[in-house]
Amino acid sequence: MTLLPSINLGDCAGHGDCVDIAPEVFTMDGDVAAVIGSGPDDLLLQAAEACPSVAIVLSDAQTGEQVYP
Ligand code: SF4
Repeated sequence: MTLLPSINLGDCAGHGDCVDIAPEVFTMDGDVAAVIGSGPDDLLLQAAEACPSVAIVLSDAQTGEQVYP
C-alpha cells in the first residue's frame, strides 16, 4: 500500500513532532504543519501515531480510503 499524508488543520496544534520525525514530508507553515513531500509508509505511520493531536490523516493512494486514524 502507498499512503498519502494530509493534515487536518483544524486539529493541528503546531507541536512539530511530525517535522522532527519526517522532515522530508512535513514542515511548519506558521502555526500549523504542511505536507511537502512523501515517504515510506512506515515513516508516515510513525509520524501520524506520534502526533499528539491526531491531526495527520493517512489515505490509501489507490483507493483514497482513509487508513489512519
Ligand atoms: S505533530 Fe500533529 S499537531 Fe504537531 S505539527 Fe505535526 S500535525 Fe500538527
